[in-house]
This record gives sequence, C-alpha cells and structure tokens, in this order.
Amino acid sequence: MCGIFGIANHADASNMTHLGLYALQHRGQESTGMSSSDGDQVFTHKAMGYVAEVFSEEVLRRLKGMNAIGHTRYSTAGDSNEGNAQPLVVKSCGTFGTVSLVHNGNLINALSLRDRLEKQGAIFQSTSDSEVILHLLARSEAGNLMDALVETLLQVQGAFCLLLLTADSLIGIRDANGFRPLNIGKINGSYVLASETCAFDLIGATYIREVEPGEMVLIRGDELKSVKALHAPRLAKCIFEHVYFSRPDSVVFGRTVQTSRDQLGRILAQESPVDADIVVPIPDSGVAAAIGYSQESGIPFAFGLIRNHYVGRTFIEPKTKIRNFGVKVKLNPVRELLTGKWVVLIDDSIVRGTTSRKIVKMVRAAGAKEVHVRISCPPTVSPCFYGIDTPTKKELIASSHTVEEIGKYIEADSIGYLSLPGLIRAVAGKGNEFCTACYTGQYPIDFVDMTTDVKAQNLQLDLWEASLKD
Ligand code: SF4
Repeated sequence: MCGIFGIANHADASNMTHLGLYALQHRGQESTGMSSSDGDQVFTHKAMGYVAEVFSEEVLRRLKGMNAIGHTRYSTAGDSNEGNAQPLVVKSCGTFGTVSLVHNGNLINALSLRDRLEKQGAIFQSTSDSEVILHLLARSEAGNLMDALVETLLQVQGAFCLLLLTADSLIGIRDANGFRPLNIGKINGSYVLASETCAFDLIGATYIREVEPGEMVLIRGDELKSVKALHAPRLAKCIFEHVYFSRPDSVVFGRTVQTSRDQLGRILAQESPVDADIVVPIPDSGVAAAIGYSQESGIPFAFGLIRNHYVGRTFIEPKTKIRNFGVKVKLNPVRELLTGKWVVLIDDSIVRGTTSRKIVKMVRAAGAKEVHVRISCPPTVSPCFYGIDTPTKKELIASSHTVEEIGKYIEADSIGYLSLPGLIRAVAGKGNEFCTACYTGQYPIDFVDMTTDVKAQNLQLDLWEASLKD
C-alpha cells in the first residue's frame, strides 16, 4: 500500500513529482518523501504526514535537478515511523555512488535475508523490508548498477515495484509476477513512471504502456532502455487493485479501473438479484459497483448514506460506548431517502463484520423496511502478504463463517457476494494472470519467512491445523 512516482530529464522535476504524489496520496497517508538529482548529487526530503503537509515551497526549491522520485507510504512491513519513510538512501553503494530507492509491495523473504545480512555485519537503519534491497545492492560486485540490481533481485521474493535514482539516472523495475502496477508515461522529452496513470493525467503526461512484469527500464536523459531482467513461472497481478485499491480514473494492468468496478456491480446484479426500492452504496468504496448494480437491475440509485471526508486518520474514539461514534462520525443516513424503503446496500468487502453490522443497524434505524447486503467481490478468507494491509486470518469473518452465518451476524435480510468467476469476468482477465489469494487462500508464491511475522504465523498455524485434519 504505497504509491511511487519518478521523472527524468524535466526542468521542474521536484514540482512534477510533488503533483504526482498528490495523485497517489490514496495509496499511502502515513509518510511521504522525495529524492532529486542534478547529475552530481542526490537530494532527499521525507517526513511523516500527507503530501500537502510535508513539502513546502522551500523544501521543493532544495530538491534540485532534472530527475526525481517520490513515495507515499502506508506500512505493511516495518513500523509506521519516520525512520521507515521513503526514499531510502545509501550514500556510498559500491561503485554506483549515491542510490535512492522507493518501493511498493512486500518482500516475503525480507526477514531471513535481513538475518543473514546482519550476521555478515550489516547495520540496518530501519525496520522496512525495502532496506534489504539496498544492503544486497551495496554488497554486489557486479560492474554496473543494472547487473547489480538483477543479482540483488534474484535473491528477493514477493511483490515489488521499485524506482531507483542515481546522480544521473532513473531506474524502474516490476517483479516478475507483476503483483503491483507500474506505468510509463511521457511529457514532451521526459519519461515518467508511476504506480497509477491518474498521476500522468495531473501533470499532463501521456500514458505509453505498463512496465512489463520482470522488466527493468533505465532512463538517462531522454532515452529509455528496457531489459527483461526477471522471470517467473506465472503472473499474479493483484486483482484487489481493481476491486478497491487503485483510483477509478486510473488505467491499471492496462484496463480502466472504473470499467472494472462498473462491471463488478453489473455482474453482482445478475448473480444476486433482489426486489428492492433503492440501491445505496456504502461510500466511497461501494459507489461505482452500486451504480453498475442499479443500471443492470433497473433499481434507482440513491446516496442514502453520506460520508464525512474530513475525519482523517487521527479520529480518536471517545471513551463512552453509549453510541457507535466510530461509524457515526464517518457515515450519516439520509432518512428521507431510506424511510419505508427496501434497500440494497452495496459494499466492496466485509472484513471483520463489525462495521457492516453497525451500518445495517444504522440504515434500519433510519427507517428502512428491509436491508439486503450485496458485496462486489467474493468473501475475503485469507490475508495478503504482498503489500495490502489486511487483518489476520482469524479476524476475517469469512475465514470461519459461511455466507449465511455472516448475513445473520450483520443482521441483513439477505446477503450475496460476487462469485470468483464473476470477479475475473469483471476485470476482463484470464483467471491465471491474477493473484486472488485473499479470496481463495491459494498463494501464488511460497512463503519463506514464516517464523517471525505475526500474520504469517497465523497462516502457518492454520495450515498446520489443516494438515492435522488431513
Ligand atoms: S492476496 Fe489479495 S490483496 Fe494481496 S496481492 Fe493477492 S489479490 Fe492482491
């Protein structure tokens, strides 16, 4: 859950990157940072907070040069603190000079690699999995940075889209499974790389294509060199980018996300129809699918729940438990629309079930006669280890309850989930090119570090219990 952006050969590189990070803010809100380079030096600034808070005009003036990379972070490996904010910079990295790195994704063997490196004397500055890459790079004896990177990345496993900045070049790499998106754009003579194409739209760049899974691109001046550097037996593009994570106005894995979300709702309406008066989304995540559901079913769409967009990450639940402030502070029902109605409530997922239960209650208390819940993806049964923050398996209600039991728990009059084939049809994919592990429990790459990661421990326990039953 991070956003990355890079630009080369642009007179206003740091300002362009600043704008690009604004467009990618939804991918991470804990910390942000940027490195720029002017042919001789690399300059870096990073801090906790939003893009709007961290970069002042003065800071952007100090980020000199024609090349820049930036990062918005949400921690899925390593703690949420300034030490883990990116870019991560190594001042003297073998013969390569200063190298700055930003990473989107999660390495699944970072702990064992870190352990090995520490035994060899490496001193880590952060608890981020991304730092492992820099330490491996620093130890490489390869003659150039591209070769050293390939040597390094052959040792890491998991999900990674990386941007690296040196004094005079920008490098972009996508792991061979293609878990996370990375795109190439162009503005005049400048190449741009970004997690999502909405960042290109903001700066007026044209989308060219994806960085292919396993591809490494080296950009120096106005030239782009491409190498197919890494190979994997299968693709595993994260289907959740289309369900929830990416912005609807982005092109991700070559397809507009809004098109996928509309299809999610339409196919859900075909698979799980219901007699009702209005289709109400749980904002904002349920809106696009609810519009699709409404258009397919012919049931009118209504904004029956209004979201407060200004709550932010600092909301502290008051001690009193008299009312459910947590949900109420974010959502408020529109009584006039709901009173006396049969309502289809649309969302993109049920995680623990507690919030959905409160929302169903809230809609009923606002006067709805019946509340039918429809979810625009299959039940979430397993956690993600490739860079999306999900609770442990034990906390996921669908890992231990049937759909019917979930419906009873959240007190809905009926419940329906989109099927897995329906989901794959909605994103116009061939099933085997996507990772769908959070819906199937079938992970596309094996785990290495199962001993110290708490989430991994939960999964290991479950696998162990399952093997005992077998
Ligand atoms: S487990 Fe789910 S969220 Fe994680 S990469 Fe796979 S599809 Fe995406």
